[in-house]
Amino acid sequence: MGVVVVTGAASGIGRASAEALIADGRQVVLWDVAPEVVEVAGALGARGEAVDVTDMAAVTEALVNAGDINGLVHAAGRVIAEPVGAYTAQSWDAVLDVNLRAQALLVQAMLPGLEAAAQAGESPAVVGISSIEGLSANPFIPAYCASKAGLLGLTRSMAAQFGPLGIRVNAVCPGFIRTPMLQIALDIDEIRAGFEQAAPLGRLGQPDEVGAAVAFLMSPKASFITGTYLVVDGGVTSRHA
Ligand code: NAD
Repeated sequence: MGVVVVTGAASGIGRASAEALIADGRQVVLWDVAPEVVEVAGALGARGEAVDVTDMAAVTEALVNAGDINGLVHAAGRVIAEPVGAYTAQSWDAVLDVNLRAQALLVQAMLPGLEAAAQAGESPAVVGISSIEGLSANPFIPAYCASKAGLLGLTRSMAAQFGPLGIRVNAVCPGFIRTPMLQIALDIDEIRAGFEQAAPLGRLGQPDEVGAAVAFLMSPKASFITGTYLVVDGGVTSRHA
């Protein structure tokens, strides 16, 4: 069985996804632009490599190191809080590049490996980490919202193209999860309380609660699920504000 590449795996949801996949007995390679990914991977008994997923030369080299591919979890992401009046072409591109374009180009680069895995009966799969911000409005982060909504469109398009090949493509839409990405907001009591109250479950989510959903979608248990998304948000999007 080939390896699952998890991007953004030095931290938060990517790391928790790698842990959940390893717990399921999967071979995992952890990638992140942050060099500490090597240490994180070592602690999990897996391989890690510092890779900027927006740099296709680096991705191509890392793919050779990864070996036979069985799947991708694209959790690398970034957010820049700039409303329409404040963003620049540069910051817009920076968000779109890692959150959306990278998954498109990663899957393209991995396609021969995913096809080979499908032909070997290994049921390869791809999971992208979208967000509830791709499903509903947030006025402060338009580029992020567009990237996460775009990821859902990319998921459906890829699922349609690759379904006949035996490759499944899905997304997970987390709500407010306690990770370093959210920390600046969580440090402000009012904002943290707002996030907690927005969820019928009355709390933030933990990265492993998203990792469990990712591992499920990557597993044979999800063998008839493709082209869709799983919301992991404690119920935030299930009710009116
Ligand atoms: P995080 O900051 O803990 O992890 C993101 C990781 O992505 C970091 O380790 C970072 O170094 C890595 N990364 C950024 N740019 C990269 C690049 N160019 N190449 C390789 N790695 C890169 O944050 P997180 O919350 O775990 O975020 C993981 C994913 O989950 C992101 O796509 C994020 O948008 C999404 N998400 C998070 C939340 C939340 O509440 N935390 C909610 C919905 C969606």
